[in-house]
Amino acid sequence: MTAQPIAMGSQKQGRPEGETNKAVRPQEEEPPSTLPPPPHAAPTAAAIALASTRKVNRFPVSREAREFYRRFYPGSTPDEWNDWRWQSRHRIRTLAELERIFVLSEDERSAAASHKGSLPVGITPYYATRMSLTDPMEPLRRTHVMVGAENIRLPGEDDDPLGEDHDTKVPGLVHRYPDRVLFLTTGFCSTYCRYCTRSRVVGNPGGEYQFSTGQWEKALAYLEQHTEVRDVLLSGGDPLSIGDEKLDWLLTRLRRIKHIEFLRIGTKIPSVLPMRITRDLVRVLKKHHPLWMSIHVTHPSEFSPEMSEGLSRLADAGIPLGSQTVLLKDINDDIAIMRPLMQGLLKRRVKPYYLYQCDPIKGSGHFRTSVDKGLEIIAGLRGHTTGYACPMFVVDAPGGGGKILLAPDAVAGRDGDDLLLRNFEGRIYRYPDPEGSLGRRLALPLAAE
Ligand code: SF4
Repeated sequence: MTAQPIAMGSQKQGRPEGETNKAVRPQEEEPPSTLPPPPHAAPTAAAIALASTRKVNRFPVSREAREFYRRFYPGSTPDEWNDWRWQSRHRIRTLAELERIFVLSEDERSAAASHKGSLPVGITPYYATRMSLTDPMEPLRRTHVMVGAENIRLPGEDDDPLGEDHDTKVPGLVHRYPDRVLFLTTGFCSTYCRYCTRSRVVGNPGGEYQFSTGQWEKALAYLEQHTEVRDVLLSGGDPLSIGDEKLDWLLTRLRRIKHIEFLRIGTKIPSVLPMRITRDLVRVLKKHHPLWMSIHVTHPSEFSPEMSEGLSRLADAGIPLGSQTVLLKDINDDIAIMRPLMQGLLKRRVKPYYLYQCDPIKGSGHFRTSVDKGLEIIAGLRGHTTGYACPMFVVDAPGGGGKILLAPDAVAGRDGDDLLLRNFEGRIYRYPDPEGSLGRRLALPLAAE
């Protein structure tokens, strides 16, 4: 069958000035770092030593992965499989590739065949090993293989539900909160999530943002002038899809701005392309502390020996790791899923940070739960497991209101000088609070009368 491109996926990504490697590369490449490394002169002693270290620190290959690449990529080697550039070059991007690997439902097939514009299909071969090849309802597959419901736009849904375009000061730089900014570094992701808040931007060559070096320079100039900004969150797209040299260049430029105290990177790479966490990348990241990282995770079936190795490398480099998870209907909206996900993150030295209510991005209605469901999940975690395993549940207010924290209501009422509080088991306890007013407006709960 002839391959039908679902989307071109190419994007402009100019080469930042100041990079030391002058090897000739096209100015436009996609993904930004999938070209083979530039030709080098004879290896130095240091390079040979580094290569031997790399061998020792080789990524594990899980049994599922080994079976998968032998079946679908015969002739490829474990070294190729564990090369993140190979993974990026072999991403599943066309209907023909989907059909070669998955048994598609009619809904999936027709949605993929008719898809146009941004948010194309994109799945790394590694991430496909975490999915069911036969069951369209398997959670990770549902988050990455398009279905017809994406074409239904419900009331309240929007292309840019968070109003990021409104708070964009220069292309790719969103300045909404007083002391921090969101820096959109690239429109490329190694996999494309069907519920992506930035579906208008990602995988959209020639679209709203071009993510060129010139754009980065404008954002850097804005940041140099705005001394109130002390915290920069690099996102996209996925910043870790950018090659080491470019990323190092950008982090160095940001670090030179004296009033920026703190850098953060939001990424899904450890879940979908863990072999990207190379020793070289870790060396680059370590140079730019304090650097924090938010890891996008969805479901415990993402946990693998490969992901554990990637997270371990990041944690060993002293990078504080947090997680962010979007609450998704019939995917992770169950305490029996969410508890092992949060506990599994802790075991891998990632602090569960945010649980997001799914943003009303257009075509995402089939993913969205009620807000009650998020509170139910938090109530099922808090007190029932380690406090560190409890993320904050937030609704990102449509129209640019920012994140609003929601938690199960612990205030049960007031009885004279006593504040009445509800514990994780629903029992009411008195707390002496003679100077307080909290709970006065609530009725006295029966249990406390
Ligand atoms: S990795 Fe993040 S930016 Fe990329 S498609 Fe998924 S949600 Fe969107």
